[in-house]
Amino acid sequence: MSTDLRLAGVTKRFGAVTAVDALDLTVPAGSFFALLGASGCGKTTTLRMVAGLEEPSAGRILLGDDDITGLRAYRRPVNTVFQSYALFPHLDVHENIAFGLRRRRQRDVRAQVERMLALVQLEGYGRRRPGELSGGQQQRVALARALVNNPRVLLLDEPLGALDLTLRRRMQIELKRIHTEVGMTFVHVTHDQEEAMTMADTVAVMNAGRIEQLGPPAQLYDLPATPFVATFLGQSNLLAGEQAGTVGDDVAVTAYGQRFTVPALRSRAAGTSVFLGVRPEKLHLALSADAVPEAHQRLTGVVTDSSYVGVSSQYLVRTGWGTELSAFAASTGEHRQVPLGAQVVAHWDPRHAFLLDRPPGEG
Ligand code: ATP
Repeated sequence: MSTDLRLAGVTKRFGAVTAVDALDLTVPAGSFFALLGASGCGKTTTLRMVAGLEEPSAGRILLGDDDITGLRAYRRPVNTVFQSYALFPHLDVHENIAFGLRRRRQRDVRAQVERMLALVQLEGYGRRRPGELSGGQQQRVALARALVNNPRVLLLDEPLGALDLTLRRRMQIELKRIHTEVGMTFVHVTHDQEEAMTMADTVAVMNAGRIEQLGPPAQLYDLPATPFVATFLGQSNLLAGEQAGTVGDDVAVTAYGQRFTVPALRSRAAGTSVFLGVRPEKLHLALSADAVPEAHQRLTGVVTDSSYVGVSSQYLVRTGWGTELSAFAASTGEHRQVPLGAQVVAHWDPRHAFLLDRPPGEG
């Protein structure tokens, strides 16, 4: 039996605020699914409705063939790990993890807790109180406490938000490992795009209560579907132009008095306002036009800023049309010596560009 998690037309209104707006979503069983969005976009409310902590104003929530919309939280085969850990401070680690098992009068509590401690790599910590643990260790206990109940779906609400950067990175890898080991569905809520991209197999980008785009991380990054996704997931140079026609499988775009081509998944009517997008790491800088590969497309400009960011450097290039382009280049590579004020040719492989609808008045 499939145990996909499905949300069908799920809406949540708080008075005049529509926090979640007719959400349709399928989370395949066993996937690591991230709900990604800025503060206030509705991701926590969505998670709380799946957990049963918030009642939808409309719509249905299904787990496999079961409609769980009206089911009490504790009856759902779903557990949540919160950013705040929410451990019982007066119970030791062992008893924190055993809590749900004891309540359900399970056998083999000791063995199950030991198995969980091994899974989260906390063997030997059973007799400590939460107050005697680091933040990362407390988060592992919270995880073990949720996993020991063997839920079909584990909900993770910004679980790494309280950890410092180094620990967060380590826990990201840990969470991925644990997910692979237990094979259950993980739904992870975060505002951190890097976290979503590194951990999840599917990312849903939420904005204003709706899903802007859903797909594997690389697909969202390489082929963003909206200007919001293009700028929320990393940086994008968005050149405002008009669709001019088609060239084979590509679309021709006029922008800044020039003609460019870009692969497009769908064609728009000639004259449609579009953005031609190029990621900063796909934008190269050359000091002379001779150095630009034949097939590349180009815009000339002046370097107005450069900053060294370790593994790469970031350059800002102001074009004659007043647009500012951003280019990343490996610090040790060809661009290391591009001086401030230099006349450059910004160029890119047209196969790495993408096309977006440009909302009226933008660009
Ligand atoms: P954050 O990352 O800051 O938690 P979020 O994306 O998880 O943000 P939600 O917490 O789901 O967003 O909130 C979505 C919208 O619903 C916001 O405008 C918020 O103010 C509103 N909201 C959430 N909970 C309530 C509530 N209990 N009463 C009234 N409004 C609420």
